[in-house]
Amino acid sequence: MAALWAEPDFDEHELVQLVHHRASGLTAIIALHSTHLGPGAGGTRFWHYPDGVGALRDALRLSRGMSYKNAMAGLPMGGGKAVVLLDRDGRKTPAMLAAFGDAVEALGGRYVTAEDVGASVADMVAIAARTQHVCGLPAEQGAVGGDPGPFTARGIVLGIKAAVAYRLGTDSMAGIRVAVQGCGSVGGGVARLLAAEGAVLTLADIDAARAQRLAAELGASAVPCERIMATPCEVFSPNALGAVLDRAGIARLDCRIVAGGANNQLAQAGDGAALAERGILYAPDYVINAGGIINVSLEYLCRRHGQPCDLAEVEARIARIPERLRAIWQGAQDSGESADVVADRMAQALIGRG
Ligand code: NAD
Repeated sequence: MAALWAEPDFDEHELVQLVHHRASGLTAIIALHSTHLGPGAGGTRFWHYPDGVGALRDALRLSRGMSYKNAMAGLPMGGGKAVVLLDRDGRKTPAMLAAFGDAVEALGGRYVTAEDVGASVADMVAIAARTQHVCGLPAEQGAVGGDPGPFTARGIVLGIKAAVAYRLGTDSMAGIRVAVQGCGSVGGGVARLLAAEGAVLTLADIDAARAQRLAAELGASAVPCERIMATPCEVFSPNALGAVLDRAGIARLDCRIVAGGANNQLAQAGDGAALAERGILYAPDYVINAGGIINVSLEYLCRRHGQPCDLAEVEARIARIPERLRAIWQGAQDSGESADVVADRMAQALIGRG
């Protein structure tokens, strides 16, 4: 067992809980990386994992990412994440959601959950029947809370524009070619916002029909998944799953900037440096994709404190994403380190692990 604590992904997690609920068939992992700044906040991913070790690794990496993300976003929240291991058919039942809610409640507020891949607002409502430590609950149009995806997408687009200004010296997205990997809640939102600003989009999704529908709506092109990373463009925007930036993936890129919302885009240590060596500007994922957690964390905190929520505050916090990215890029330029290394060091200092 000692080996588990020595795993690089374990990285001093405060708590890792393996959950099994026989009656509902729920199998889940809740990982709390740090509660230094507040309760560990991060969504729940519902996914079919080939094996439990892969699920554990995903939970640990995502949870650490949430510590860094919440700290860098200036939120009074720590970092945590949950994964629910679905069967091959992706079966998710009300009983499983209830059992998962009980598991979150049992942590007494040390972990606060929300949506992630495979989870909907309706799932959060079901979980909320069993625990108060959940956010991303339904919100009226224009109010704080609800689906974090559109808020995440807004922050990413601000980050992409900051990267284009920094690297290409232009404030306009007109004619800027962006290759978008993943056309779900986040990728779809990013594509729509960029299309409205005149960017030239190429889209891909493993659900090819989804990419084609969105391409038709936006006057964009759709390509098969295996071609998206090699698409010639100014910006490659990964908005599907993580670890796409491994050595082979980085070698295929034909872009000047990587900026997208997927969590844990870099496959392993050194991949950020490999991007920098290719002259590609990287927007660290947990900095650029903080819009959604900013939205739902403020929803949670307002509800806890019985205060009205101010959408203007959410928007103001999202609007600060570009300045954080610029500080990281400047730090990387000054130190000669890669952007991910600079960002990690900033985040570690904020959570008392510097
Ligand atoms: P989603 O499930 O709505 O969309 C993901 C999309 O990616 C789906 O359309 C899926 O078919 C597609 N996809 C999966 N694997 C693919 C592949 N190999 N190639 C191309 N497409 C693929 O999920 P989402 O909420 O849009 O999240 C996307 C990413 O952004 C995830 O990494 C998530 O952790 C991250 N993220 C999401 C939020 C949020 O607010 N939803 C916030 C921060 C980070």
